[in-house]
Amino acid sequence: MLIDTHAHLNLEAFKGDAEEVIKRALQNGVQMINAGVDFETSKKAVELAEKFPGVYAAVGFHPNDSKEEFDYPVFKELALNSKVVAIGETGLDYYRIEKGDLSVKNRQKEIFKKQIELALELKKPLIIHCREAHGDLLEIIKSYFLNLKSGFNGVLHSFSGNLEQAEKYREMGFKIAFNGIITFSRDYDEVILKTPIEDILIETDCPFLTPIPYRGKRNEPLYVIEVAKRIAEIKGLSLEETGEQTTKNARELFGI
Ligand SMILES: [Zn+2]
Repeated sequence: MLIDTHAHLNLEAFKGDAEEVIKRALQNGVQMINAGVDFETSKKAVELAEKFPGVYAAVGFHPNDSKEEFDYPVFKELALNSKVVAIGETGLDYYRIEKGDLSVKNRQKEIFKKQIELALELKKPLIIHCREAHGDLLEIIKSYFLNLKSGFNGVLHSFSGNLEQAEKYREMGFKIAFNGIITFSRDYDEVILKTPIEDILIETDCPFLTPIPYRGKRNEPLYVIEVAKRIAEIKGLSLEETGEQTTKNARELFGI
């Protein structure tokens, strides 16, 4: 059994067939966590989770969608649902913003901090998205988690940092998640090699980032096995061992 710890069957790309895709994954032993990117998609993730055993939800606000206000009480209410296993996806994304545009950065930081506070209040892990912002992200994470060994800190999803950054996140109790990117890019081989398997999670981030050999197709949770295969290959482990350990890691972090 594998767990796709970051899927988006709640997005438009799966509008017509989300339930079929979920059934296909479950029948093949793949469970999943669907992550919200705003309030509507968070609500949708919860609805899907309520329909299927083995499907869970994360509720949160993606940094690229931070134009809306983050309504703390409304998200809290949604997050109290027993199928909600994390707050996210949330984080910082400076990739698309103009260099030096401090107002957008500050706004992202503010909304991220509110979600950290919600996660701490509800004792749920965070699913963190970070692109070209690891310096600021680490600073914020440190201010909350440096001396807090809560055991439910969270995960850096679709990890885009270097080995040193991965180690800093791990020291503060965070897991590191990889997806299809590692099947077509060698950029993270060293991080994967040097990160203990106990700290690694697997995900698809579907419908995006389709792994080899399905490039060009829409991604789906079933393909998470390609990520496990590549991690096994890099670390010289068996696929079985890699699958078992990453599933155990996900179960412990998300309490499922
Ligand atoms: Zn995502």
